[in-house]
Amino acid sequence: MTNSFKALQVQENEGSYETHLVEKNIDDLPEGDLLIKVSYSSLNYKDALSASGNPGVTRNFPHTPGIDAVGEIVQANNSDFKEGDKVIVTGYDLGMNTSGGFSEYIRVPNHWALGLPPELSEIDSMCLGTAGLTAGLSIYALESFRGISGTNSVVTGATGGVGSISVMLLSKLGSEVTAVSGKKEKEGLIKSIGAKQVLSREELSEMTRQPLGKTLWDIGVDVVSGEMLSLLLASLTPGGAVACSGLVGGPSFESSIFPFILRGNALIGIDSVEIPLEQKENIWKLFANEWGLSLQDTTKIVSLDEISDEISTILKGEQVGRVVLKL
Ligand code: NDP
Repeated sequence: MTNSFKALQVQENEGSYETHLVEKNIDDLPEGDLLIKVSYSSLNYKDALSASGNPGVTRNFPHTPGIDAVGEIVQANNSDFKEGDKVIVTGYDLGMNTSGGFSEYIRVPNHWALGLPPELSEIDSMCLGTAGLTAGLSIYALESFRGISGTNSVVTGATGGVGSISVMLLSKLGSEVTAVSGKKEKEGLIKSIGAKQVLSREELSEMTRQPLGKTLWDIGVDVVSGEMLSLLLASLTPGGAVACSGLVGGPSFESSIFPFILRGNALIGIDSVEIPLEQKENIWKLFANEWGLSLQDTTKIVSLDEISDEISTILKGEQVGRVVLKL
């Protein structure tokens, strides 16, 4: 094993942030039980926030982003894992203030890693990544609350990572999916991954009104917040629920008590980052078995020197599908 390796590094320069490909040394990595040679990482919206200096994600620079990684253990201390085991690491502090997966090596605590399910390839695990885990947690929560099969569902941010995987999974599980997207020109692609209907954000806002509109959907997956989430909450059928995970449309939304007390609706918050490892393992096992999806057609595979352009694209909300980084 060589001691030096390549990584993407974000540097602060008088309040602006620049990305560079750098050589790092194993000794530069933080303390931890597991040294992992990363095979693939993936790009999530949060990585773009980290790379652009969002202090809610990353406070100290220079920094290597990457909230996801899959790879092989090369050193294991205090661990049931051994050298050669393949593991997935997503969330916790990886890529936030701990050097992340846009790097040939990471070092992390033992309890951040879970074994790659044998039915899942390394690349497929990163086609899913945190976006897939979040979609999976959202749909698992909705399944427990209301059931999926036979429902009418709605998904916002449908061409993005969490959104596109939610469309695929809901459709696979027997829901009739309406996708809401700012990219109406991608209607063909969104239908090809499982949506029955595609609405622009404007069309959605014309279909419902506050504080309660027509009952349109039994369940929803929302990654946008803001007006989109307000509209979804106003248009659920009795007993329906929305699982919310994101804030690309802003951190605040308006609602009223009416959906909750007149229709028994629920708003379910989804966290994929800090939840116990067993809850993550449960979702990965489902994706490795009965929830298996073909994601490679909607995933772009890039190298370390191409990832900066993809970061700019996701920050503008223009990314379609998933981006996997091959190390
Ligand atoms: P992506 O950028 O891949 O997808 C977001 C999509 O939302 C875009 O592709 C776009 O889709 C739509 N969008 C973008 N900007 C706006 C806007 N201003 N108003 C309305 N819609 C917009 O991001 P991810 O899927 O990786 O993440 C989505 C959100 O979920 C982020 O806020 C992220 O931080 C959050 N997240 C939270 C997690 C958790 O644990 N709670 C875990 C993972 C993600 P379209 O053009 O089709 O509308």
